[in-house]
Amino acid sequence: MAQKGSLKEYYEKREFTKTPEPKGEAKETGQSRFVIQEHHASRLHWDFRLELDGVLKSWAVPKEPPQSPGVKRLAVQTEDHPVDYISFEGSIPEGEYGAGTVKIWDSGNYNLESRDEKKLVFQLRGKKLQGRYVLVNTRGNQWIFFKSKN
Ligand code: MN
Repeated sequence: MAQKGSLKEYYEKREFTKTPEPKGEAKETGQSRFVIQEHHASRLHWDFRLELDGVLKSWAVPKEPPQSPGVKRLAVQTEDHPVDYISFEGSIPEGEYGAGTVKIWDSGNYNLESRDEKKLVFQLRGKKLQGRYVLVNTRGNQWIFFKSKN
């Protein structure tokens, strides 16, 4: 079992009296869900989140996530989010971290096939994204996200 995720950075970045985002907590739900939230912040991006280690491991993807093989996307790892964030949609007010609207672009369950520090392989069962996907760490918080050819 991997180390439990930490929400310290998530809490530090937000004022919960001002943002509608859930405060939440780290918890094991026994589920393996994912969500992709389309986030119209200062720059449009897609937030890819995997339920893992009692939190949502999170990556910001600057271009639309690939629905077929052959397209590689940069994915920048961001702070762990609480599992309750999985259903979040709404508007983060001006002046707050991540100001702008958030709506769910895709969601579903996944099967983790392999995991180490530098690489995750998993099967997504969403409405838009289906099949085997890979996240590979290139350096620092930078990863590459793509659909596997097989
Ligand atoms: Mn975001």
